[in-house]
Amino acid sequence: MRWEGNRQSDNVEDRRASGVGGRSIGIGSIIVALIAWGVFGINPLTVLGIMQGGAPTVQTQQAPGTTGPVDDRSGQFVATVLADTEDVWGGIYSNYKDPRLVLFRDATSTACGTGQAAMGPFYCPADTTVYIDLSFFDELKSRLGAPGEFAQAYVIAHEVGHHLQRLQGTTQKIDSMRGRISQTEYNQLSVRLELQADCYAGVWGHHADRQRKILEGGDIEAAMNAAAKIGDDALQRSAGRVVRPESFTHGTSDQRQRWFYTGLKSGDPQACDTFNASPL
Ligand SMILES: [Zn+2]
Repeated sequence: MRWEGNRQSDNVEDRRASGVGGRSIGIGSIIVALIAWGVFGINPLTVLGIMQGGAPTVQTQQAPGTTGPVDDRSGQFVATVLADTEDVWGGIYSNYKDPRLVLFRDATSTACGTGQAAMGPFYCPADTTVYIDLSFFDELKSRLGAPGEFAQAYVIAHEVGHHLQRLQGTTQKIDSMRGRISQTEYNQLSVRLELQADCYAGVWGHHADRQRKILEGGDIEAAMNAAAKIGDDALQRSAGRVVRPESFTHGTSDQRQRWFYTGLKSGDPQACDTFNASPL
């Protein structure tokens, strides 16, 4: 992926040096979090409740991190991909409002409760911020078998896709149904929300490549491979579990690949109407 030298976003806050001292989570918990909620969880609070034994999360006070240019390569990569999503979505929607992005290590406070690295990257609608502990990219490469910068960019763009859903009111609509529908029905809506975020990530890739020629040989394959590795069925299978479709929250490998590709090929957010798609 070609990204060096491109614009970096000003909306990044680096908290990697100012952790809240949250305990680091073992690999077992990471797997539990991945399996239970899929990577790129949509409801950090739920995950946190589980990780902390169901107790309500305590908001931790934390000094703000630093803003301004980041000086390490991984941080610069994230800031560059974020800037690229700003340019693409700002070009498509004139009223687009940029999200913020926080880089953290281990744990950090968010308007959605304390964010943990084990949750994977996530988007908090309450403070319209994407949270990423960069160690996830090592997980993605080594544990989940999905290397490649464009695979990482897909992850970031997927979270920005959730921001778009927040701006569109979709997130709020689905959240309001929580408790009024069964868990299985809620999971099905969650899958549609997640697949739409995958599709939006593809839409971003389409325009970013058109505008800035970011894609190199093997990049699309790397993102498609990542989409497959983080499918709910693949995650359950790799954990040695029985595949239970009613527990899916993010979609199968096949669905995640298909919707990402739909966005990537069309470049059209209208093509991402997962809520009316049948079959999904
Ligand atoms: Zn997601």
